[in-house]
Amino acid sequence: MLKTDIAIIGAGPAGLNAAISAAAMGAKVLLLDRDDRAGGQLIKQTHKFFGSRELHASLRGIDIASLLLARVREFDNIDFRLGATVLGYYEDGVITAEYRGNFLKIKADRYVIATGASEKILPFPNNDLPGVYGAGAVQTLTNVYGVLPGKRVIMVGSGNIGLIVSYQLLQAGVQVAGIVEAAPGIGGYLVHAAKIRRAGVPIYTSHTIKEAYGDSSVQGAVIWQLDEKWQPLNGTEKDIEADVICIAVGLTPLTELLWQAGCQMKYVPQLGGHVNLRDENLMTSVPGIYVAGDVSGVEEASAAMLEGKLAGLAAAKSLGYSIENYDELWQQAISQLDGLRSGPAGEKIRSGLKMLVR
Ligand SMILES: Cc1cc2nc3c(=O)[nH]c(=O)nc-3n(C[C@H](O)[C@H](O)[C@H](O)COP(=O)(O)OP(=O)(O)OC[C@H]3O[C@@H](n4cnc5c(N)ncnc54)[C@H](O)[C@@H]3O)c2cc1C
Repeated sequence: MLKTDIAIIGAGPAGLNAAISAAAMGAKVLLLDRDDRAGGQLIKQTHKFFGSRELHASLRGIDIASLLLARVREFDNIDFRLGATVLGYYEDGVITAEYRGNFLKIKADRYVIATGASEKILPFPNNDLPGVYGAGAVQTLTNVYGVLPGKRVIMVGSGNIGLIVSYQLLQAGVQVAGIVEAAPGIGGYLVHAAKIRRAGVPIYTSHTIKEAYGDSSVQGAVIWQLDEKWQPLNGTEKDIEADVICIAVGLTPLTELLWQAGCQMKYVPQLGGHVNLRDENLMTSVPGIYVAGDVSGVEEASAAMLEGKLAGLAAAKSLGYSIENYDELWQQAISQLDGLRSGPAGEKIRSGLKMLVR
């Protein structure tokens, strides 16, 4: 049995920051990620981030991952294992993991779950044809492995992910035949949409996919218009040829471990699906289990980093570790989170979070 003070599951921006802040207080940390690279979603984000300097704005996601990893490597009290998939959480507070062909049993005094989110898929006829991808998968193929998914893409969804991945595909020399959006307006930041429009890509708002077609793989799709009640309008069909359909209709938190641990969960559509109740320290309803990042509500990397910092600090403090400026660090993270979630852009997240306070 491997024993540690704090086990952190997931080494995306949330988990990396949780490890750094807990280790800085002196806690013994075990950081596990199933991937063979640290950084979670950040390693495929080749675009520069918005936000404040403290949260690495104007750096590319992939560079933020390297920066956080270098910081983790400075601590002797962080045991960081890549290629470690956490399989389950058991009643006696033990977790199990598959680690490079070995089966590990781990008992930690505290856990920080930072497993991120997975992509939502969309039901339509022939959505199982080869050539139908999630946008995150396309981004992994192109930006991590240097493999193009095809020659001509239909993007479904005009949130930031749909817009950013479309732009990155254009940069990689792939044609984007159009972006299809069910809502009457574009979902993502207008600065991203403007770049797409300047490249001549049509954005079909109030439209959805009627069906994909193709013999053994995607050859195109029929899209159609939706009325104000989101019902398809017969006679508005358009046929678009493409060899890839890329689905970017949102993410949903990867909460399996939280369910297994018996955390109280609630369905909050604004946060992407079922998420856990939590207190101001991001502790769930199960004492000793904390959350951070997209697993506790789909947001952005900047929010994930701050939540990681908070959860790491609070978990270490609950074990009796201390740091001189704890209150200042904690308050600073809270204020920065409030700042990120302020204004009209943060309204959706604010209303979702209100439903969750324990
Ligand atoms: C295309 C795209 C563009 C984006 N652009 C921006 C942007 O410009 N600015 C911004 O702030 N945010 C952006 N984001 C959002 C941002 O990337 C995420 O909000 C952020 O990565 C969430 O961090 P996280 O640590 O919670 O999860 P993730 O980054 O998803 O990391 C979770 C980690 O957990 C690991 N894991 C999961 N389950 C297990 C398990 N059972 N065992 C072990 N390990 C496990 C995964 O391998 C992964 O490494 C973008 C996202 C996408 C997809």
